[in-house]
Amino acid sequence: MKAIVIDKTEDAQRVSLKEHEGFGAPGDGQVCVAVEYSTINYKDALAISGASPVVRSFPLIPGIDFAGTVTDSAHEKWQRGDRVLLNGWGVGEAHNGGLAQQACVSGDWLQSIPDAFDSRSAMAIGTAGYTASLCVDALVNHGLEPDSGPVLVTGASGGVGSLAIALLSAAGYTVTAVTGKTAEESYLRALGAREILDRAELGELGKPLQKERWSGVVDAVGGATLANACAQTSYRGAVAACGLAQSMKFPSTVMPFILRGVTLYGIDSVMAPMRVRELAWARLARDLDIRHLDAVISEISLAESIRKAGDVLSGAHRGRFLVDVNR
Ligand code: NAP
Repeated sequence: MKAIVIDKTEDAQRVSLKEHEGFGAPGDGQVCVAVEYSTINYKDALAISGASPVVRSFPLIPGIDFAGTVTDSAHEKWQRGDRVLLNGWGVGEAHNGGLAQQACVSGDWLQSIPDAFDSRSAMAIGTAGYTASLCVDALVNHGLEPDSGPVLVTGASGGVGSLAIALLSAAGYTVTAVTGKTAEESYLRALGAREILDRAELGELGKPLQKERWSGVVDAVGGATLANACAQTSYRGAVAACGLAQSMKFPSTVMPFILRGVTLYGIDSVMAPMRVRELAWARLARDLDIRHLDAVISEISLAESIRKAGDVLSGAHRGRFLVDVNR
């Protein structure tokens, strides 16, 4: 089978497309999957570039998500022919991942692809869309209603941001999108954004408390943007923080939390319990208009994924790279 393999010598990391011997029969509790699609998430781009120590075991096949068909199962839940997807669980970090034509993983980590999707649309959504859905779930469970006031989405033209806009607007929320790519205004409006803000407006640290503007926030970028978003969140509003595209720092104060009762939710997709994942995918199946996915994705081959990882890190791309591993 073909696979992207990351290897490390003493002083350098090497990434290449290789002919891989495959994994043989699955061990106890394991399931082998003929992968059809994977994606290049921000974390995959960090792993492939070596910009951050994402990979914890070498050599390793990257790819934190995949969708495909079960070919061999030693797990009671799964049979040959089942249509499955996987997000996270350390796959593509400590375990071989989805940027290959075959994956063998614990059957406990797999989910059925919801009926609303096929393997291609499931990975067009991918971990970014599933994380966006976790963020929306956090805001809705907090009690945010569509008439509570506008919801801010940062990193709007990226994978998480694009799908958060689509999900929030489908559920009736009024969305303001923050982007560094104001030329993408029509793309963001087509996804459902009502207002567009230039990233520069939130990118520099402002006062600890600012004018109340947002009932809720989905933040994919961290840093000063997240601090300003918290400072602009209305009384008893909620912020779902999932990313660090601007910075891993959080240069905030306690003021929004102790004077306005703002709640900051941390969103982790990697180790989220299965029930939480199923609810997030159920929201996607129910609310996402899959026609949006054509605008969100650029389809690439396994070989192209190495080069495209650089585009993801530079923030120059729009939406998501969908990898057809058999192309
Ligand atoms: P992405 O497609 O690369 O999108 C990130 C977006 O952030 C970019 O498109 C850009 O949007 C914006 N951005 C880039 N550099 C920026 C900067 N210096 N300052 C402000 N904004 C900047 O990545 P993604 O897949 O959507 O993921 C977004 C973040 O969420 C990443 O940090 C990723 O690691 C994280 N994530 C976390 C989880 C989790 O479990 N917590 C899961 C998935 C992803 P604009 O040009 O529109 O501003």
